[in-house]
Amino acid sequence: MDDFSWRANPIKSDGAERNQAILKALRSRSLKAALFVRASNIVEDEGKNLLRAWDTEGHLIGNHTFSHLYYNNSKVTAETFSEDILRAEDLLKAFPHFQKIFRFPYLKEGETAAKRDAIRRFLSQQGYRVGHVTIDTSDWIVDDRLRKRLAKDESADLSGYRQFYLDHMWERTLYYDELSQNVVKRSVKHTILMHFNLLNALFLGDLIDMFSSKGWQVIDAVEAFRDPVFLTQPKTVPAGESIIWALAKETGRFDKVLRYPGEDGEYETAKMDKLGL
Ligand SMILES: [Zn+2]
Repeated sequence: MDDFSWRANPIKSDGAERNQAILKALRSRSLKAALFVRASNIVEDEGKNLLRAWDTEGHLIGNHTFSHLYYNNSKVTAETFSEDILRAEDLLKAFPHFQKIFRFPYLKEGETAAKRDAIRRFLSQQGYRVGHVTIDTSDWIVDDRLRKRLAKDESADLSGYRQFYLDHMWERTLYYDELSQNVVKRSVKHTILMHFNLLNALFLGDLIDMFSSKGWQVIDAVEAFRDPVFLTQPKTVPAGESIIWALAKETGRFDKVLRYPGEDGEYETAKMDKLGL
């Protein structure tokens, strides 16, 4: 789960309530997730206190930079980006469940080979691993639409958003799992992208239960990240996206089933328009 933007969009619930709802969904299913924190969200005591709840419950805490820069922007140098990672680490290292695991904002790892390799060298020198996603998604656009509906009508029926969200996550899961079987020749231990938002405060429990009901085993993030696929370093440019996407791109053999970017809100908005969401 990314960003930890607990201050954002306090409609229906505030950051503290969302924190409790998300933690409860995980706790009641005995699951330990990974939270990749944008550390500008924990400068103040309130943010630190909310994060402490994750730490106390034993969830993995990772680095997602301080200011969430878009690394594929030519104005963002490897040096600037590296400093932003260290600035985040200064705040995160106080939490016992913080580990040196890094998730790139927007899953963007550099628009040139030089920048890609420079940041890989930096992360390796600093003792970091990359906390890739294998299953990329656009949960954030569903959250965006749901909040817009609530802004118009706070008692709106949200069941359509719930169903769209579950269908979207399952559809993307099947796509990336098939790609994994074709490229890596096995179904890897998957990690799925999602964000700290109202959508997950409402439906994370349903999402986890959906995977279980379809026969998938839902595992702790620490266990998933032990899969050797997370140590691969595909030499694609622009670098990034899902690690499975990037490994597929690197072979040059899957271009028919690869779009760029791998996921985007734009891919989902027409479908939601059609459903009146
Ligand atoms: Zn992010």
